[in-house]
Amino acid sequence: MITRLSVLYELQLLDSQLDELEELRGDLPLAVEGLKNQIKGISDQLESKKEIKNESMEKIKANEEEIERLNQNLTKFKAQLYQVRNNKEYDALTKEIDHSEADIEKLNADNKALDELIQRTDNEINEVAPQVEKLTLDMEIKQEDLEKIIKTNEQEEEKIKAKRDKIAESVKKPDYNNYMRIRKAKNGQAIAAVIRSACSGCHNVVPAQRQIEIKQNKRLFTCESCGRILISAELAEQVESKK
Ligand SMILES: [Zn+2]
Repeated sequence: MITRLSVLYELQLLDSQLDELEELRGDLPLAVEGLKNQIKGISDQLESKKEIKNESMEKIKANEEEIERLNQNLTKFKAQLYQVRNNKEYDALTKEIDHSEADIEKLNADNKALDELIQRTDNEINEVAPQVEKLTLDMEIKQEDLEKIIKTNEQEEEKIKAKRDKIAESVKKPDYNNYMRIRKAKNGQAIAAVIRSACSGCHNVVPAQRQIEIKQNKRLFTCESCGRILISAELAEQVESKK
């Protein structure tokens, strides 16, 4: 039983060391992540605006070709007007001419609207593009800072992690799950020592009888106030000095 408790406490000490290293990174990981998301959002927006622009340009080109074709027809129809033999033919031709002219007018109006859309889209692109540059620069600086911090502690962290993994293997699965659950709920600290009659996690007094039982290391007790696993100060010291 004493091994079961001391192994858990060893795990706690290593996890606390890893937590400290993680804390050195501060807000940087979150900040980098946030900036990356922001950049992605704006880049996607830019991409779809560029698509709108390209599609509009293609449509204008197709419309111009159609206008060209209609104009050629018009020239042909107008020449034919001089060769009509009767009113019926004349009416048919003028109808064609009116129709083509109306089509050309509509296509020109469409192109004007498309031109305006391109102009608007261009303005929007020019407005947003510098934001991406600024955010990217900001993100790169923060990422560099973060990598520096990670690199400084890399070896130490690897060493602690390797030790931690080894210790974790020797912890029984239910104990490990219990430990991890409390650790998550209690801001990283799942195990507390009884120091000067109080739980070192929440500083509430541990009943005298319970203190005696805890010192015997025969069972796993949890603090009645905070739920952390309790060990005696002696055991804590013993494990700490072993490191
Ligand atoms: Zn407590």
